[in-house]
Amino acid sequence: MAQSAVLGFPRIGPQREVKKALEAFWAQKISAEELQKVATEQRLATYATIKSQGVDIIPTGSFSLYDHVLDTSNTFNIIPEKYAKSGLNPLDTYFAMARGHQRNGVDLPATEMQKWFDSNYHYLVPELKEDTEFKLNNLKPVDDFVEAKNAGYNARPVLLGPITLLALGKASDDAKDPNFDPVSLVPKLAPYYAELLVKLGEAGAEWVQVDEPVLMFDDAQKYAALFKSVYESFAQTAPNVKVLLTTYFGRLDSNIEIIKDLPIAGLHIDCDRAPEQIDQVTAAFASKKTVISLGLVSGRNIWKTDLSAALKLAQKAVAALGGDASRVIIASSSSLQHTPITIANEKKLAPEVLDWFSFATEKCGEVATLASALRDPQSAAERLEVNAKSIKARRDFETNSDPAVRERVANIKPEDLKRKSPFPVRREIQRQRLNLPLFPTTTIGSFPQTKEIRQYRARFNKGEITQEEYEKFLEDEIKMVVEKQEALNLDVLVHGEPERNDMVQYFGELLDGFVFTQNAWVQSFGSRYVRPPVIVSDVSRPKPMTVRWSAYAQSITKKAMKGMLTGPVTILNWSFPRVDVSREIQSKQIALALRDEVVDLEKAGILAVQVDEPAIREGLPLRRSEWDAYLKWAVDSFRLSTSGVSDAMNTASHFCYSDFNSMMNSIIDLDADMISIENAKAGSKVLKVFQSTQYPNEIGPGLFDIHSARVPSEEEMYQKLVNMASILPKEALWANPDCGLKTRTWAECEAQLKNMVNAAERARKDL
Ligand code: GLN
Ligand code: ZN
Repeated sequence: MAQSAVLGFPRIGPQREVKKALEAFWAQKISAEELQKVATEQRLATYATIKSQGVDIIPTGSFSLYDHVLDTSNTFNIIPEKYAKSGLNPLDTYFAMARGHQRNGVDLPATEMQKWFDSNYHYLVPELKEDTEFKLNNLKPVDDFVEAKNAGYNARPVLLGPITLLALGKASDDAKDPNFDPVSLVPKLAPYYAELLVKLGEAGAEWVQVDEPVLMFDDAQKYAALFKSVYESFAQTAPNVKVLLTTYFGRLDSNIEIIKDLPIAGLHIDCDRAPEQIDQVTAAFASKKTVISLGLVSGRNIWKTDLSAALKLAQKAVAALGGDASRVIIASSSSLQHTPITIANEKKLAPEVLDWFSFATEKCGEVATLASALRDPQSAAERLEVNAKSIKARRDFETNSDPAVRERVANIKPEDLKRKSPFPVRREIQRQRLNLPLFPTTTIGSFPQTKEIRQYRARFNKGEITQEEYEKFLEDEIKMVVEKQEALNLDVLVHGEPERNDMVQYFGELLDGFVFTQNAWVQSFGSRYVRPPVIVSDVSRPKPMTVRWSAYAQSITKKAMKGMLTGPVTILNWSFPRVDVSREIQSKQIALALRDEVVDLEKAGILAVQVDEPAIREGLPLRRSEWDAYLKWAVDSFRLSTSGVSDAMNTASHFCYSDFNSMMNSIIDLDADMISIENAKAGSKVLKVFQSTQYPNEIGPGLFDIHSARVPSEEEMYQKLVNMASILPKEALWANPDCGLKTRTWAECEAQLKNMVNAAERARKDL
């Protein structure tokens, strides 16, 4: 009989209980015991929710107070010395690694965060060195399992596997060899995993889910020997524990060779991202006893699963395994932590729209329905029928969505992706019109989002102040921002973005085709959750979105005002996309809407526009073979949005990072007149990449770190400019901060900008 399972669940709690408790604990408003009490309650409530939806196998250990990678590091004692020796108790040490600690004379920075595969979740990077001493520092996985088991659940512990854990790690600063590869420590670490498996078995665990998503990467082959020795050692040391080797976010492809002969009891594959791998995997394992867990319900999106299509895939898998349904588990494709908790918390969406959605709780129900349909189609007939109706309604809506937008995308011509003249011609026209000196100074868009701004917005949203009052407030804010920039003597000004709640949400709300939720929170990191907009249909722009504010700002200054937009790829990547049309089409629809906005800005007398694309890089597919196709439509989308204007319009773009590893060609291809990048901490290395690839257009490497209150001196920023000009042509350089200033105070950013402008003025004279 096929069983059902989910691989993990959101941690926040239906009313954000865990987030609130964490923040209260950090603010020293509740004790560690109170925090743990909330965590325990939420874990047990989660198990009850999953079970009530009819799921057979309950995941334990996927709950985390901050991050499951950090939990795993902590369990195996991967704790850099300065934290281990800080004298803090284990919980405070854990949070110190997560978010830094500055109290009672202990001053520790947070460890580094990185994006979790191609998701918007961030994990804390394990730090290792040659003599990292592993041990079982705690037994959280066992404790979590026992807690669930004692509460009567059929629990399956989840562990992040040893090879993935170390492959996600980095050499710590005090490693002897800076090129030290943490994966070299796997043989030393694996015995502690085996010991943990034994303990889990003794506690009553029959199965353990061991996640090795590193198998989704092109270069996983280099770990083949490690997989063999590690998983053979598990089978030897803990023969009674069945390991479900778990992969997600992609396809195994040739990496199946690495695992097909391992002594594993089960293999989980992602059939949402890669349904085609079912044939390959069932064929490879048909003659063995291996259980195949089919991840048929997406852990990454918010859409209802097409259950009849999923059921067909499951039936095909069963047939390929000789008709033995007990060899199949129906599961979520990955942990459900990347989805919000439940649609039951959404009170404002139209019922017919809400009916398209399935969040974590509802996805549990889908998994259970599929498993029972596989056992006995009759038992689930009614649920399948209701699902089919909903899917059909959604498809009907989709196909009738907005033919005009689709036609426009279908008719994009090569010349729509090109500015009228090449950059050198545009540059001359723009320099004259903008009348810019050497090292022109500018900022990245936002100025401090003060409490006052947030309060006004909240009051406006609650209907406590009128539209007119709110807009008057915003105009006054813009006026103040413009005056401050004039006083600082910046060259290209911005309006400061006071009207924006968020750089994506703001545009989503003004574009057709998006809907917003009240409670669809997904974890970005720790207690930080975001509520991505949902793209439900074809995207278009009913009316101008930013022109009013930019035009007002331009009307009160003689200096050039830079329009400010979020780019198409970033809007797409920070939203929940549709699954019925490709990301490429969605990106181009958004790009066309932005193109009209850029044209309208020019008509309103704006001479420069910045189209932010900080999310381009994170959208890169996991497999290199898919990079080119992605980068092509990402670059085309940006070009589409910026190419509708005359040569005189200065189009800029912005990235919050500067590591353009293997995508420099695409950055060049954007053909933005100017790009600003983060550089305050990165130094010359990045600039040399631009030098060696002969980046042809203009560039503003960040001169100061916007995350810090620190005010670098004029001298420090001047030296940075001197260094920049020694590597790149000085005519190509701008002077600007790393990113927007919304999280700074006015006192901080005014002091920072003053020194920056002075540094640029000095550099103009000297260089
Ligand atoms: N224009 C935005 C700002 O200044 C850019 C933010 C970003 O790059 N993340 O806030
Ligand atoms: Zn940025």
